[in-house]
Amino acid sequence: MAKKYVYFFGNGKADGNTGMKNLLGGKGANLAEMAGHHNLRLPVPPGFTITTEVCTLYYKNNRKYPKELKKQVDTALTRVEKIIGKKFGDPNDPLLVSVRSGARSSMPGMMETVLNVGLTTRTIPGLIKKTNNERFVYDAYRRLLMMYSDVVMEKATGIEPEGEGIRVRLEHAMERVKKEKGYKDNNDTDMTVDDLKRLCDEFKIIIKETLKKEFPDDHKEQLWGGIGAVFQSWMGKRAVSYRRIEKIPEEWGTAVNVQSMVFGNTGNNSATGVAFTRNPATGEDMFFGEWLPNAQGEDVVAGIRTPNPVNKAGKTDDTQHLHSLEEAMPKLYKELFTIEKNLEKHYRDMQDIEFTIEDGKLWMLQTRVGKRNGQAAIRMAVEMAKQKLIAKEMAISRVKPEHIDELLHPSVDPAEENKAVELAKGLPAGPGGATGKVVFTADDAESWAKRGEKVILVRSETSPEDVHGMHAAEAILTARGGMTSHAALVARGWGKCCIVGCSSLHIDLPKKEIHVTGRVIRESDWITLNGTKGRVYEGKLNLLPADPEHNLWYKELMKWADQVRTLKVRTNADTPNDAAVARNYGAEGIGLCRTEHMFFGPDRIKAVREMILSDNLEGRKKALAKLLPMQKGDFIGIFKAMEGLPVTIRLLDPPLHEFLPHTDKELMELSQDMGVPFEQLDAKNKSLHEFNPMLGHRGCRLGVTYPEIYEMQAQAIMEAACELTKQKVKVIPEIMIPLVGHVKELEAMKKIVVSVADRVKKEYKVKVPYTVGTMIELPRACVTSDEIAPIADFYSFGTNDLTQTVYGLSRDDAGRFLPFYIENGILKDDPFITIDTEGVGAFMRIAVEKGRKVKKNLKLGICGEHGGEPKSVEFCHKIGLNYVSCSPFRVPIARFAAAQAVIKEKAKKTNRK
Ligand code: PEP
Ligand code: MG
Repeated sequence: MAKKYVYFFGNGKADGNTGMKNLLGGKGANLAEMAGHHNLRLPVPPGFTITTEVCTLYYKNNRKYPKELKKQVDTALTRVEKIIGKKFGDPNDPLLVSVRSGARSSMPGMMETVLNVGLTTRTIPGLIKKTNNERFVYDAYRRLLMMYSDVVMEKATGIEPEGEGIRVRLEHAMERVKKEKGYKDNNDTDMTVDDLKRLCDEFKIIIKETLKKEFPDDHKEQLWGGIGAVFQSWMGKRAVSYRRIEKIPEEWGTAVNVQSMVFGNTGNNSATGVAFTRNPATGEDMFFGEWLPNAQGEDVVAGIRTPNPVNKAGKTDDTQHLHSLEEAMPKLYKELFTIEKNLEKHYRDMQDIEFTIEDGKLWMLQTRVGKRNGQAAIRMAVEMAKQKLIAKEMAISRVKPEHIDELLHPSVDPAEENKAVELAKGLPAGPGGATGKVVFTADDAESWAKRGEKVILVRSETSPEDVHGMHAAEAILTARGGMTSHAALVARGWGKCCIVGCSSLHIDLPKKEIHVTGRVIRESDWITLNGTKGRVYEGKLNLLPADPEHNLWYKELMKWADQVRTLKVRTNADTPNDAAVARNYGAEGIGLCRTEHMFFGPDRIKAVREMILSDNLEGRKKALAKLLPMQKGDFIGIFKAMEGLPVTIRLLDPPLHEFLPHTDKELMELSQDMGVPFEQLDAKNKSLHEFNPMLGHRGCRLGVTYPEIYEMQAQAIMEAACELTKQKVKVIPEIMIPLVGHVKELEAMKKIVVSVADRVKKEYKVKVPYTVGTMIELPRACVTSDEIAPIADFYSFGTNDLTQTVYGLSRDDAGRFLPFYIENGILKDDPFITIDTEGVGAFMRIAVEKGRKVKKNLKLGICGEHGGEPKSVEFCHKIGLNYVSCSPFRVPIARFAAAQAVIKEKAKKTNRK
């Protein structure tokens, strides 16, 4: 039997189902489910899906279709014709179809759609007769001319227009007609039949002139042109750029959905809309959406007309006056309401649906899992679990670590907001606060952001061409469009602050100015957005850090996550303040306290330099004696902040050269301070120079050559611990030796620490349980882990240095070329952000296995930057670490990622069974 490339759906039946997303794309699989699943059998206009496999074959075979395709398309089309009772291309009663893309995961607006395919000079008179609505037919025709010439004749053929593209030219022609006729508010619906007829003729001439080709007046040619254009759009610039940002593999391909047209623009008894089964901006369990009477779907999404709320409950202060569907067509609203409830129950997730009402009949055009911001994702997941729609574990898996991150985002300081000059109001499409300099083009947003500027991208409306700039910007502000416009959808997907439909902004793009309420805002002026309220302010307002602690859904979800996870989460903190913040975020200890940061304080750096520049032991000891009480004070503060929790303190790590002055002027000052001749200091400074300091005299190598440094630090730690123990404060010090490559290094350092610790404990006459462990951050340490483990009480993987040394990749210089590697697909992720599991991870595995072989209960953690990155946290869970440690603000993300790792592991085990 020939391979099946075409899947039919409609009239209560479907060849496919929602489980076939890889083959049918998200849209196709869900259309099949809505049409054919026995729980649903919704009114879906019949149609068929050409599989993603065809897309892959098309590119593999030099842009040719498999030979069976044509016949299968014809058969499916005949089936559609039978159901509808109309024939494609029939001059008396023609069937019209839409041709749309549909990838596995939704790529909003990235690929192409052509509507009204099948309208030709042969079929137009028949359709007019049948609908008795000449205006509607010509409006549909002008839309086809616009979309087809843009998508099929221009974009798909790879034409990069100089100046204006065909779509803009046609739009200008339409504007001219509306202006000439003096239609108020620029409304498309004001255009008469004659206007539209004239416009269609003019469109055809412009198309011929611009693209040097006639608009095809044959229904079959239109259909295959549309199918080809969708496949072509998979490799279009916008789609490629979106895929790169979203990490969607190229091999996935897109499906093509061909579906019989239903019309929301046949008159006032028709309408179209987009809705969500729950509010995608807040997560509230309330049917939420937008609709437009007498319009086609593209009108809602493109943001050309600002739509009305679908129901009364969805009205805001700003939309009170608009007519809701609930009020305008109560019976149909009720039917839609029942369907949306049913869909959510069936899919057990918030759905984003598209519907059309054609002459009083409701049609469902699409359902898909709705994009949501972090706040909404968390609230929905928790409420759905409480409503027993999903299990708690499902709630955890459904929220992305980025969603948690988003909740930790800043908001506009209300004190400043109250006093600020409000420039405009818009729709709150993406929450949180953002402040930045105004830019008007996506390219500017990208290049300004690259040079470190914070920018806000301001556009009339965004289109998929703007994606790179939207990504680079702090926030997005548009003058037009609703909550389902392109800008709103994309920003929500990224959890970015965004305001849309800010209609009082008049954007003068050529001059790069915004005119609003008598003011002029120019490029590079600062503005601030409150994306939660939809308010735009002049100037740079203060942003407040996020306040997740008052979000009850978040707290509940984190409680569930903590019940599930097995990895502990600690923090990297060097100050009592950081430690307290992290503890608030749920840190269960300190995994890395970098003592060198304490050496830079203005009151200490002098003593540190004295110590470094001394020529003899006595001089060094004198300087160290000055540092001792200060270090002890630091540790007391940190131990107190972490009372009862373990605190890992790392002894000095960086090359000493880093503490010395870099300029002659500073060296001169130091020489005066120390009373040592400049020349002597200069010579010492030069002698400390290293060609490769990262691989030089640092880490435990300092302790080996200058044991007195580690002695002082061990003494400070233990005195702090003993003093607090006497005060009945529970302390758990863990002393960590950095950059160990050979067991003998650790042996020697441990001996120093133990001898100091025992002495101090005796002096204070208290018992303080302490441990001595090592960082594992060199390949040699990993492969000799069976020798090191007997000496170490614990390991902490320093994956920053381990990545540097396994890869032979300087952590300070890689920024110059790694982005190029990622852009060109040589590396999927930056190994300094996400653990390179195959390389660096393999060394970690060796260290774990060899270490635990000789010491079964060896405590293992990680304190490199990877400790707060979700994919790396999952890897740490997999290889059996006991904890991860990360910066304070990443603690919640790490806790959450650790829970997700457990759930994923369980699911894998169940699948294997
Ligand atoms: C590491 O190398 O991963 C580490 C945590 O230490 P540092 O970044 O201080 O070298
Ligand atoms: Mg290190």
